[in-house]
Amino acid sequence: MKTYKIVILGPPGSGKGTQAKMIAEKYGIEHISTGDIFRAKRGDGTELGNKIKELIDNGNFVPDDITIKIIEEKLGSIEGGYMLDGFPRTIPQAEALKGFADINMVIYIDVKDEVLVSRLSSRLMCKCGESYNKITKKPKKDNFCDKCNQELYQREDETPEVVQERLKIYKEKTEPLLDFYKDILVRVDGDQPINKVFEDIKKVLS
Ligand code: AMP
Repeated sequence: MKTYKIVILGPPGSGKGTQAKMIAEKYGIEHISTGDIFRAKRGDGTELGNKIKELIDNGNFVPDDITIKIIEEKLGSIEGGYMLDGFPRTIPQAEALKGFADINMVIYIDVKDEVLVSRLSSRLMCKCGESYNKITKKPKKDNFCDKCNQELYQREDETPEVVQERLKIYKEKTEPLLDFYKDILVRVDGDQPINKVFEDIKKVLS
């Protein structure tokens, strides 16, 4: 069987985190989310944690050198396949990744701007890592996680102002990756129900 070394790309709110988890589970590969890694560090009380908190709460990126080091170390400890979610996000990160990983596919989840803004402002998170959406992926019990029953919360970087800033930075810094990866890039329509997007991704991977 092929070892999947996949990057999933898409604007904030495209649903890439949800799809990344589903793919990782189905194909038995590791899900590596830089967003999750940074959210875990942001509250740890260290100097680095405080710096990360300030950056992500304002919708800014964590510097390339810090991000690259974390991912390089993480990939060094993985034997099989993996799914990179949220990395790379800039051309320098993609250049660095080429030096320490052989990515064999890039999945791009394509969603229009208008849809992104409304999705992001209705997203709900759980401390256990699950995410929900008041419109597209409601929890069974209002405001509580289906998996662990903890109370859900809204991310601090999902206020309307910060969402606009994140989309602007995505266009400037991350969108150029679509061209960078054009030879191994597969586009999937992300403006569909979650399971339909997943079906399309499975077709691409089989
Ligand atoms: P996400 O959960 O993927 O939307 O990531 C949340 C936030 O973490 C982003 O808005 C950035 O502030 C930061 N972040 C995640 N991945 C990266 C990356 N590859 N480079 C720089 N900052 C990142």
